Amino acid sequence: MDISADRVVLIHYTLKDDSGAVIDSSAGGEPLAYIQGHGNLVAGLEKALEGKHDGETVEVSVAPAEGYGVHDAALIQRVPKRSLQGSGQIKKGMQFQGRTEHGMRLFTVTAVVGDMVTLDANHPLADKTLNFKVEIVSVREATTEELEHGHVHGAGGHHH
Ligand SMILES: [Zn+2]
Repeated sequence: MDISADRVVLIHYTLKDDSGAVIDSSAGGEPLAYIQGHGNLVAGLEKALEGKHDGETVEVSVAPAEGYGVHDAALIQRVPKRSLQGSGQIKKGMQFQGRTEHGMRLFTVTAVVGDMVTLDANHPLADKTLNFKVEIVSVREATTEELEHGHVHGAGGHHH
């Protein structure tokens, strides 16, 4: 079966940066399950998988614009330490979840100077070319319930 919108796809994947270092991989674990056409994967990977079928191996390099974005200086802000919860020991490299106008974001502390903390909400993989190698394990139609929930049920997905 081909990969197209509203189908459930199980993949094994390896993601490398341009130096060949492995950033993430499903090897040795469960395959990743997602619904095609729902923005569950980065845009460039979803696009590369469209029309492929089970059993195929796909290698694709995804540019930052279709991956985790281009580094955006507007996503860097300085805030007073006291505005952060549990602000006892704020150190460079710490990460926080926070709400922004773009939804939930992960903020990384990039500097602490006096009472001011610099937070960077750019994705840690912003500006990186994503080199994926994907094995398509299986493709099936999503159930009505899965489409309503926006996620996969059963193997590789939610159990509830
Ligand atoms: Zn569900």
